[in-house]
Amino acid sequence: MAGEPQSDCLFCKIVAGAIPATVVRKTDRTLAFRDINPQAPTHILVIPHVHYPNAAALAAAEPAVAAELLTEAAGVAEDEGLSDYRLIFNTGAGAGQTVFHAHVHLLGGTPLREGLV
Ligand code: 5GP
Ligand code: ZN
Repeated sequence: MAGEPQSDCLFCKIVAGAIPATVVRKTDRTLAFRDINPQAPTHILVIPHVHYPNAAALAAAEPAVAAELLTEAAGVAEDEGLSDYRLIFNTGAGAGQTVFHAHVHLLGGTPLREGLV
């Protein structure tokens, strides 16, 4: 069923506590943890507890949870002392998505390169 945990999903396992992660913030609906392969001094992933393959599918099915990813990302940025940061939603393997559980990347802590690609 849409939104249900997937046994083969890495981020569902992190939500369940079956795989450890450095959690920085959590709510009843979201979890924020440090990326294992940081691309900036601060690189945090914010994910919904519920499983959807990407952010658009989450937004279509559970818009309030999709919105909470953004408010939680802003909260993480504040916690990290970042006024400037970048949020990225990779969607599809061709865009670099490797984990097919919706997530937003929060990058910051260094001047970020201008341009998107
Ligand atoms: P994507 O490429 O799908 O947009 O982002 C997936 C992210 O998950 C990557 O930046 C990758 O470094 C991160 N990642 C993959 N495996 C793990 C893990 O086991 N723990 C943590 N904390 N991050 C992971
Ligand atoms: Zn999942």
